[in-house]
Amino acid sequence: MRYIDIHAHMVSRTTDDYYQMALTGCVAVTEPAFWPGWDRSSADSFEDYFRQLTEFEPKRAAAYGIRHYTWLCLNPKEGEDRDLARRVLERIPRYLDRPNVLGIGEIGLNRVTRNELATFEDHVALAVEHGQLIHIHTPHLEDKLKGTRLTIETLLRYEGLRPERVMIDHAEEHTLEMILRHGFWAGITLYPQTKVSAQRAADMIERFGPDRICVASACDWGPSVPVAVPQFVMEMRRRKHPEALIHRVVYENPIAFLRQCPKFEVPE
Ligand SMILES: [Zn+2]
Repeated sequence: MRYIDIHAHMVSRTTDDYYQMALTGCVAVTEPAFWPGWDRSSADSFEDYFRQLTEFEPKRAAAYGIRHYTWLCLNPKEGEDRDLARRVLERIPRYLDRPNVLGIGEIGLNRVTRNELATFEDHVALAVEHGQLIHIHTPHLEDKLKGTRLTIETLLRYEGLRPERVMIDHAEEHTLEMILRHGFWAGITLYPQTKVSAQRAADMIERFGPDRICVASACDWGPSVPVAVPQFVMEMRRRKHPEALIHRVVYENPIAFLRQCPKFEVPE
């Protein structure tokens, strides 16, 4: 089945992962800027990363027939450093016109600190000012509920911000309803160990329906599976859900959200 993975950190993956994704029907990925597992030492380092995301990675994906799009930001974890955030934020606008950049992301909160919130607000203001789509990370485990709540409260304060142009990702059973109720899109990212499994994602689609929900692999440098979306497809088939419903979640929904950015082209 054709699918679009809206959250895949491909800079962390090998070409074999692109190959496996292409074999299982992936036609496009969107790659949010994120924390590399270690803190970068300067704004220059982010600039090199932005060049990798906008110049090199699209070529690597194209070799497997996969369209590569990206989101730019300084991630929630490094966002704790306010000086660094200021220096990176002033450089981001130079990259927003690049052909594969869809918006600002994945921004948000990690430990839900005052500094993280300030950096998150700076990013939202930048996105509103430049008319960008937004992709949001929500904290994991015990910080998820309060972090998601604070994220939504913060977003609702921006008058120029339209909720249907924002994807709030890493949604779980206890945060999904709150995200959807306010008109945002919700992302469910799948992981092989902790966090959401294909089974739990299928349960959530059964409970909440398919409207404004996307499912993604989030594959990165830690334990994660680049073909997690087709694994979700298999779980949905095992439960005898109609192909049209599955197709909607893994292909039509990502298109409906992403095409709000005119640069996004539906893959042939
Ligand atoms: Zn991520």
